Amino acid sequence: MHNAAFTALGLNWIYLPFRVRARDLPAAVRGLAALQVAGFNVTIPHKEAVLPLLDEVDPPAARIGAVNTVRVEAGRLQGFNTDAPGLVDALMREGGARLAGSRCLVLGAGGAGRGAAFALAGAGAARVVILNRTPNRAEVLAGQVAADGARCDVRGGPLDATTVTREAPEADVIVQATGATMSPALGGGGGWTPWLGALREELRSGMTVLDMVYTPRWTELLRAARQAGATAVSGLSMLVAQGARAFEVWTGRPAPVDVMARAVDAEIPDRG
Ligand code: NAP
Repeated sequence: MHNAAFTALGLNWIYLPFRVRARDLPAAVRGLAALQVAGFNVTIPHKEAVLPLLDEVDPPAARIGAVNTVRVEAGRLQGFNTDAPGLVDALMREGGARLAGSRCLVLGAGGAGRGAAFALAGAGAARVVILNRTPNRAEVLAGQVAADGARCDVRGGPLDATTVTREAPEADVIVQATGATMSPALGGGGGWTPWLGALREELRSGMTVLDMVYTPRWTELLRAARQAGATAVSGLSMLVAQGARAFEVWTGRPAPVDVMARAVDAEIPDRG
């Protein structure tokens, strides 16, 4: 999507993927700075580990504790988190969700869940409930979002069928931020785990459901959401939205979002 965007704007830039082992991250980051690249993205599993290697971290990214976008300016490495605002962009653009005053349920408290919780609180949600397989991570995150001055009710709890059955009917917006809905071939749990099965029972019209997993584009959860009359938002919309914001961080120019979305559509076809 970035290369399509560079071409569309006539920029002589190129975006390349590199696989970096955890132990090589400091050397890779120093090398990119030495090469004077304009910037780079950081993805799983380096989004948290990269923070201490940077010269500056944008305050929202520091609060979330995860950086996915780095700009290199005059040799200095500046870190940003575009996943969090990308989530809000996707929910508003594709899901038609009104986040101000909404009741939100975030499933997962890893890097993606952390970004979602801060972003939804920042977008004016009335309530953010975070559930995680390891409940302590959800509770710690809820405390951090509350301490950050969120003017909403923030709570954490366990990601299990009983809690999902209690919390999901109260939610206007549900964000799935675990890998559980990924296809098993890609390392996801696959199948309807008890908590996913409980969630399926509570889906209804008037809800907006975003699954951050985009392999496949329409996960079983999103299909079930559509069948129940809810608005389903694919993680691909968030992928494009975070990419558009990263493009703007690097180039300082408005991102050609439609071009980027079409490039992603060509790569990952929409099989309904
Ligand atoms: P992470 O930091 O490794 O966190 C993983 C999270 O998933 C943790 O909350 C973990 O719970 C939970 N989890 C993993 N497997 C689970 C299972 N089988 N059942 C229940 N919970 C499970 O990863 P991340 O960066 O947050 O990413 C999470 C997902 O979001 C990934 O699939 C990633 O590709 C996707 N993502 C998408 C976008 C996008 O643009 N669409 C952006 C960022 C991330 P524990 O704490 O108990 O381990």
